Amino acid sequence: MNTIEEPVRKTPIIAETDVLVIGGGPAGLAAALAAARENVDTILLERYGFFGGVITQSMIGTIAWYRYAKTIEASGIGVEFEERAKNMGATYNIFGDIKNEDMIKTLEEEELLVDGEPTYEILDTEKFKYVADEMIEEANVTPLLHSYAVDVVKEDNIIKGVIIENKSGRQAILAKRVIDATGDADIAYLAGAPCQKNLKKELMEVTVNFGCSGINIGKFLMYIYLNPGKIGDWGEALDESSFSTYLVEPFQKAKEAGEIPEDVRIESYWGNYTDAGEITSFNAVHMWDIDCTDVWDLTKAEIEGRKRVMMAVDALKKYTPGFKNARLRTIGTSLGTRESRKILGTYTLTEEDVRNEARFEDSIGICPEFIDGYGIAILPLTGRYFQVPYGIILPKKVENLLVAGRCVSSDKIAHAATRQMVCCSITGQGAGVTAAVSIKDKVICRDVDIKEVQNTLKNQGVRLD
Ligand SMILES: Cc1cc2nc3c(=O)[nH]c(=O)nc-3n(C[C@H](O)[C@H](O)[C@H](O)COP(=O)(O)OP(=O)(O)OC[C@H]3O[C@@H](n4cnc5c(N)ncnc54)[C@H](O)[C@@H]3O)c2cc1C
Repeated sequence: MNTIEEPVRKTPIIAETDVLVIGGGPAGLAAALAAARENVDTILLERYGFFGGVITQSMIGTIAWYRYAKTIEASGIGVEFEERAKNMGATYNIFGDIKNEDMIKTLEEEELLVDGEPTYEILDTEKFKYVADEMIEEANVTPLLHSYAVDVVKEDNIIKGVIIENKSGRQAILAKRVIDATGDADIAYLAGAPCQKNLKKELMEVTVNFGCSGINIGKFLMYIYLNPGKIGDWGEALDESSFSTYLVEPFQKAKEAGEIPEDVRIESYWGNYTDAGEITSFNAVHMWDIDCTDVWDLTKAEIEGRKRVMMAVDALKKYTPGFKNARLRTIGTSLGTRESRKILGTYTLTEEDVRNEARFEDSIGICPEFIDGYGIAILPLTGRYFQVPYGIILPKKVENLLVAGRCVSSDKIAHAATRQMVCCSITGQGAGVTAAVSIKDKVICRDVDIKEVQNTLKNQGVRLD
């Protein structure tokens, strides 16, 4: 590739802090909250104008949809997001609002309703922007929005901060500890930490998510009751007949009518219906062969994704009861990425670990055995869970850098577990606490006293075993 040489320049240092977290998704939010709650100065940096990551950019509110009656819960800040949102009127209780007796019986049999109460709440992804602001403010985290991290400040093999770009120009922020919660391991990569990425054609699909308004919800729910979706519709599952809010028929009909091309995959998980006749999240448009660390691929997928959203809305209007007067309401601010670059940590979580309830001395939390990806759908119906080891958030070679969220170190199938929002929050909280403990003890993250980290996590309400 041809290059140009940029002039050397002096970059203003706009802030110095104890902990700097890059990326405000579930992982970054959890990391920043966890660090700040240990009374270290913490900055949370985000490229968009709001926090929440995939939750608020792609309208994915189903942070806890894996929770059935017997699920052993991960605990920690991920669960707090759901509880806090509920207390602030920022959740939907989609099963709790159902009045039809037969449907209630079905949901009870499916263990999605227990004593009349739903096992989980769905986040109102617009209001969650505000919920995140409130949580950040209460914890005394310093927010910095509209700022893109574009480079790192490094001395020898120790990370000292990042270079950012925003409307105010190019600036530096220095930090004693840096947490990469960008989803794509941007900071680890820029710092020279070893990274891994699946072959492009094997990466999980990307999705342009959308919402609709003007729906006759009663008619739609009756149609769903008579034609319930099954988990087996979207993956090889332990119990393929379990109910799922998954819609295939309208898109299939549009395909048969030649309105959706044969090679275009549109099938929809749907969530968040409201009394106002909205369904705010259709996770329907699935596109493969996209590398989300390549800006040309990102551009192609956004534009092609919007084309497919139009096809999906037309199919819903034409072939779905209750959708005759429906309209497109929103398209996600950004396409949703399920998998891209990850670090190679001092430990890499494996499929074996996730499927066999792995136990680790350096556990920073637990996650239910929940695998969703590559055509596999394992739901934690039985209470099985694995421990999350510290080694997967600790990169090789670079000191005082931790990584959290979907870019932690995992193999292909384990990624379908670590990418789940609640697991991202566990690795985020683990990173935030480790950063704080290592600063207080004046040791680099690699030498941190893991027992002290574990005790601090326990004090923060995280279950470790
Ligand atoms: C369509 C779709 C549906 C999904 N459904 C579910 C579901 O139902 N349940 C579930 O648990 N999981 C689901 N997932 C997975 C889950 O949402 C993600 O894996 C999770 O959000 C990852 O969290 P994260 O914090 O690591 O990254 P993200 O949520 O991607 O957040 C990363 C943040 O970093 C910011 N950022 C990135 N680079 C930079 C930079 N260089 N400088 C500054 N900021 C930067 C981004 O803007 C973003 O806010 C879904 C994913 C997709 C795409």
